[in-house]
Amino acid sequence: MLEQSLVIIKPDGVKKGIIGEIITTFEKRGLTIKEMKMTTLETDVVKEHYAHLSDKPFFQDVIDFMISGPVVCLILEGPSGISVIRQMVGATNPLEAAPGTIRANFAFESGSNVIHASDSVEAANDEIKRFFA
Ligand code: UDP
Ligand code: MG
Repeated sequence: MLEQSLVIIKPDGVKKGIIGEIITTFEKRGLTIKEMKMTTLETDVVKEHYAHLSDKPFFQDVIDFMISGPVVCLILEGPSGISVIRQMVGATNPLEAAPGTIRANFAFESGSNVIHASDSVEAANDEIKRFFA
C-alpha cells in the first residue's frame, strides 16, 4: 500500500552538503517526492514535533539543534513507505545503525543523526500537517 512519510534533513545534513546525496538515495529506491522545501524551523514547531521526548534530559539540546540552521522537509511516498524509509534511515544511534543506512553512512551521534522520518502512518499524517500546513 502507498504510504507517505514526512522526512526532515536536519541542520547537520544541510551543513555537511549531503542534501543531494540523501535525496538521490530515496529517488534511486523509487520513492516519489510529493513536496519539498528548505526552511528554518521555529521553536514551537520543534517542541510539538518532539513532544514525546519532553521529559528527557536531552530535550532542550534536541530543540536547540533543530533550530540551529536550515533544514529540508520532504513528503516522500512509496509502497510501505513508512517502514521502507525508516529502514533506509537506520537506528536512532548511528553507531547502532545497520551498514548502508543513511545514519550509518553519514553520522556518529544520536544528537546529530542527519535525518528524521515518520515512524507510523498516524505520525506521518500529523507531521505532514505540521510541516506543510
Ligand atoms: N535523540 C537523542 N538522544 C537519544 C534519543 C533521541 O539525541 O537518546 C534525538 C535524536 O536526534 C533522535 C530524536 O531525538 O533522532 C528523536 O528521537 P526518536 O526516539 O523519535 O528517534 P528517531 O525516530 O529519530 O529515530
Ligand atoms: Mg521518532
